[in-house]
Amino acid sequence: MKGNFPTEKFKEIETPFYYYDTDLLRTTLHTINSEAGKHDNFVVHYAVKANANPKLLGIIREAGLGADCVSGGEITAVCKAGFPGNSIVFAGVGKADWEINLALDKDIFCFNVESTAELEVINELAGKKGKKARVAFRINPNVGAHTHANITTGLAENKFGIAMRDMEKVIEEAQNMEHVTFVGLHFHIGSQILDMGDFEALCNRINDLQDQLERQHIQVENINVGGGLGIDYQHPNRVPMPDFKAYFDTYAKHLRLRPGQKLHFELGRAVVAQCGSLIAKTLYIKQGEVKKFAILDAGMTDLIRPALYQAYHKIENLSSDGPMETYDVVGPICESSDVFAKHVELNESHRGDLMALRSAGAYGEIMASGYNCRHLPQGYTSDELK
Ligand SMILES: *Cc1c(COP(=O)(O)O)cnc(C)c1O
Repeated sequence: MKGNFPTEKFKEIETPFYYYDTDLLRTTLHTINSEAGKHDNFVVHYAVKANANPKLLGIIREAGLGADCVSGGEITAVCKAGFPGNSIVFAGVGKADWEINLALDKDIFCFNVESTAELEVINELAGKKGKKARVAFRINPNVGAHTHANITTGLAENKFGIAMRDMEKVIEEAQNMEHVTFVGLHFHIGSQILDMGDFEALCNRINDLQDQLERQHIQVENINVGGGLGIDYQHPNRVPMPDFKAYFDTYAKHLRLRPGQKLHFELGRAVVAQCGSLIAKTLYIKQGEVKKFAILDAGMTDLIRPALYQAYHKIENLSSDGPMETYDVVGPICESSDVFAKHVELNESHRGDLMALRSAGAYGEIMASGYNCRHLPQGYTSDELK
């Protein structure tokens, strides 16, 4: 089974480019809102680092999600897209002074603070502006997610977050500072997580930490559990959306929220991955010793996930219904890691055939680079190509 694409329209567009099915994006956002909306106090932010295409940001803002930013550039992008300042959370281990100042000027909802050193700088910069910065601490819960090593972030030895044993100390420090207000705890255990047991483990850990804080009479207004919900890269047509119900229900069931406490989520991949495809043209079919190579005009500069994480993207030949054959699908970049997939079955392929690399809406376009002096791929929505 192949996806539904306006293949005739594609012929008029310079390849490679990203194509976003905005009907699917809207359906996904609607499902998120209705599933999260079943639980009181659930607040969903979109993790902008997954994809900051302005057209998508506009649709996500319309759906009412907040924004989770990790840089000043992302804060600027979401403000441009109309996200209100008080819907923005700002994370990251290395916030520069200008980024902190920008966030203060935008009166963001909260800084997710990752070290004491950073807390002191935020306090100082807020003081200079005569403001009080709302801060949450990113705590490293030492919960391992069963996912790729490069995208696991919640283990003990990690550049991210503050160790659990330092939690009370940093909260007290914040409470003694004049220009910060302690408003919550933040967690994020990794990405592309499909086992609800990992989120359940995070809930159990947060329950313990909350009990511990309660004994010290420390109140926490907001709990932020980050993102990380995975998608089905194998079956983008059959499973175009993750199981949001199971995801939100896991938190509702296992996390003991206190009265009035808000639970924040920061979903990136789960929101945008399935709606995006990288569309490329086949430049050459090359017969090797035993293998056949399909050489595309898209490469790792357009979609780096296979080269960076050995990630799998389903590939479909949109121009051929011929018999299935086995190919290695590669890009034109001068790097041997510029391979999209090895030994994949495609309809018999020819020069000029359009290929879709599916499930590429997250960490695709946004990670594109100009290596080899290549042009950045453009992004088109199904709205525009109707
Ligand atoms: C990357 C990231 C997210 C989003 O992760 P997804 O796996 O795309 O949902 C959320 N929060 C933080 C702090 C992140 O670093």
